[in-house]
Amino acid sequence: MKAIAKLINDTYEIEEKLFELLSCAETDCTHFYQDTAGITDINQIKVLRAMQKNNLSDIHLHGSTGYGYGDIGRSTLEKVYADLFKSEAALVRVQIVSGTHAIALALLGNLNRGEELISATGRPYDTLAKVIGLREEYGSLKHNGVDYKEISLTSDGKMNIERLIKQVTPNTKMIFFQRSRGYEWRPSFSIPELEHAIGAIKSVYPDLICLVDNCYGEFVETREPIEIGADLVAGSLIKNPGGGLALTGGYIAGNNELVRRAGIRLSAPGIGTEVGASLNFNRTAFQGLFMAPMIVAQALNGAILGARFFELLGYPVLPAYNERRTDIIQAIRLGSKELMCAFCRGLQRACPLDSQATPLPDMLPGYEHEVIMAGGTFIQGSSIELSADGPIRPPYEIFLQGGLTFSHVKIGLLLAAQEVLRRSK
Ligand SMILES: *Cc1c(COP(=O)(O)O)cnc(C)c1O
Repeated sequence: MKAIAKLINDTYEIEEKLFELLSCAETDCTHFYQDTAGITDINQIKVLRAMQKNNLSDIHLHGSTGYGYGDIGRSTLEKVYADLFKSEAALVRVQIVSGTHAIALALLGNLNRGEELISATGRPYDTLAKVIGLREEYGSLKHNGVDYKEISLTSDGKMNIERLIKQVTPNTKMIFFQRSRGYEWRPSFSIPELEHAIGAIKSVYPDLICLVDNCYGEFVETREPIEIGADLVAGSLIKNPGGGLALTGGYIAGNNELVRRAGIRLSAPGIGTEVGASLNFNRTAFQGLFMAPMIVAQALNGAILGARFFELLGYPVLPAYNERRTDIIQAIRLGSKELMCAFCRGLQRACPLDSQATPLPDMLPGYEHEVIMAGGTFIQGSSIELSADGPIRPPYEIFLQGGLTFSHVKIGLLLAAQEVLRRSK
């Protein structure tokens, strides 16, 4: 630690006390890192087997242009995802612009006028507000005549499945679950919790479609939502499953018909999933997926260390360093807009790109409050790379995530803490 401290200090002038604190935090975290539990190894084997089973070969790494007919790289990528997620089918496309888009396709493609969606995990992630129509928007579920209700979480942040089951009507078609905490101060939902909830719902209403927003959850545990009873999952490739290499994109996995309908929503009726040029996407999507279990472990270990470090600095954190995790998000309650800005300023200084930039709060499409974001990433907006963000609203929590290497997260934590410390004096 001494030599490293000197090296980092010569460059960034970090207070001695912060090195000592980080060193203590590292010792405390020893037994709680993701790799220690063997989860990374299990997920690596799953990814490897899915690739081998589909005879992945050099020819699959090259993409197509134009209509993208007969793109065997694309179709093999989708078979690999389907095997990995234990689903019948998957849609993994460069044309899916984000996680929100992937979830929106699953929703809009499978819900029709007069039908109803119920969220089992309270208010969904901010960017889904306009997809659902919680805030007016042309083309939202609400605009299309799809009803929506949500079952708020209990005071200790749990799902209320008994209440949900009572609220089901003959029109109810789909139940929505969000695995990750998003921008909320609540525990994320573990795979066993989701398994229990979906099992309880299906025992009464076996035909309801259970959709899981899987963003930030992939490879954090050893099982994924379809394996435990979900019908559809959706997520972003510039988060966990892209391994920091996928250039853009999103995925949906589930049974043939549900995925096909989402695919029709992506392209057009009559065209479906047979088209869509993959361009230069396939190689990075495959290689990123191959790297993803290890990258997720780097990010998780960084989050675990960040939790302990900021706890030692006196800030409330969620989850605690020694709690089991189901997503890569680390929430830190800083308590003021100034400290959120300071944290982001510090983290930005640690980024490989745009380290000279100063993050400032601003309005972003899809969000209701001003949002501050730090992250000088190789892929624009990629949050599997070290980044932090949060809506500027009380009680002023910053959400830290990502990190392609654990060492980089450490540098980021030191610089963020340094700025927070300066600002809070
Ligand atoms: C990131 C995220 C999304 C989708 O966000 P995009 O920025 O559109 O990729 C949806 N739900 C959750 C819980 C998320 O974390």
